Amino acid sequence: MNILVINSGSSSIKYQLFDMSNNSVLASGIIERIGEPESILKHRWLKSDGRHEKISLTQKIAGHKEGFQWIKRVAEDTGLSNKLKELFGIGHRVVHGGEIFQEPAVVNDEVIEAIQKMSALAPLHNPANLTGIEAAFKDYPDVPQVAVFDTAFHQTMPAHAFHYALPYELYKDYHIRRYGFHGTSHQFVSKQAALYLGRPLKELNLITLHLGNGASAAAVRGGRSIDTSMGLTPLEGLIMGTRCGDIDPSLPFYIAQRSGLSTNDIETMLNKESGLKGISGVNDMREIISRAEKGDDLASLSIGMFCYRIKKYIGAYYAVMGSLDAIVFTGGIGENSAIVRRKSCEELEGLGISIDENKNNSSSLKAREVNQDNAPVKVLVVPTNEELEIARQTVETILAAK
Ligand code: ADP
Repeated sequence: MNILVINSGSSSIKYQLFDMSNNSVLASGIIERIGEPESILKHRWLKSDGRHEKISLTQKIAGHKEGFQWIKRVAEDTGLSNKLKELFGIGHRVVHGGEIFQEPAVVNDEVIEAIQKMSALAPLHNPANLTGIEAAFKDYPDVPQVAVFDTAFHQTMPAHAFHYALPYELYKDYHIRRYGFHGTSHQFVSKQAALYLGRPLKELNLITLHLGNGASAAAVRGGRSIDTSMGLTPLEGLIMGTRCGDIDPSLPFYIAQRSGLSTNDIETMLNKESGLKGISGVNDMREIISRAEKGDDLASLSIGMFCYRIKKYIGAYYAVMGSLDAIVFTGGIGENSAIVRRKSCEELEGLGISIDENKNNSSSLKAREVNQDNAPVKVLVVPTNEELEIARQTVETILAAK
């Protein structure tokens, strides 16, 4: 049973072809810098002799439609035509499902219209996601397609967690509320954590921390998200590579008054020039850690701020759930940075959280625990795999609809 997963972003298209009989990846790739003078296509595939091979092309790719034509061409040239003929379904990552989608949905005209409507809330992402859906329908008109929403997992948040304390009409008229993102990742690592712990997910209280370029925390009770740090947009919450996360809501007005910058400029500043980059000058955590080790004070400060914010969310979500079984670190930083894990959990022994330095410093590609043996709360490192989760949800959704 083969599933193609497509993540069509604003200037990139990522894809993975899975054989779901053993969760293996038959092919994967990415086109980056779509619309720029030099787009790059990287493609990796599994050959019949069991070895992987990869190619990389530099080529002007003007738009998403052309991008999909390139992917099809490269897939055919690398012997994947038969695998694509056997497609059971195509799963699409869709960023915003608003309040309409609490689950993945088999794509039909109604679903497409709803995703279009939701573009007001995700103007960069939803239209790009739809381009992927259109292209896939054109090439594979008979293959069922499923939209898997970043927001869906968090639709279980109770009203007191998802409302902003703003005039209620704003919610009714413009759907202004907290939605949360990275849902597929929070859901995937929650399930993996339960498998690792050998306990039913229904019994567990987890804090999941997805720390990549974007970063978010979620309080997951019994497998359901009951709070998360991102809001109407992905700007709220934790400090991120280039996003500020939580700030005083008056700040944009104050910045405008003092600097004369327009609201557009300030929005760009908060999204693209803030966070780790705003303080240290760079957004890549590896580079920041290396600078901090060489004595760069602002790099150290940005790491301290990043971890302090995470720690505050751990405290908040512990209180929200009343008890805690495990904290789950994932994403490029969460999976790889022992320093960030250590600093985020520092001095939390009173809450039953204590890290074992040796375990924390060792690296592995598998789910593992880094807490001290006798610590009441487990601290887990669980590699995320959003594509595999999308593929699984695609299969489940198609089978349920049959
Ligand atoms: P994205 O949100 O773009 O998918 P990733 O989940 O790949 O991002 O995470 C990217 C971040 O992970 C970058 O800040 C990168 O520096 C960081 N990262 C990757 N490897 C390490 C490492 N060994 N130590 C610290 N940070 C790392």
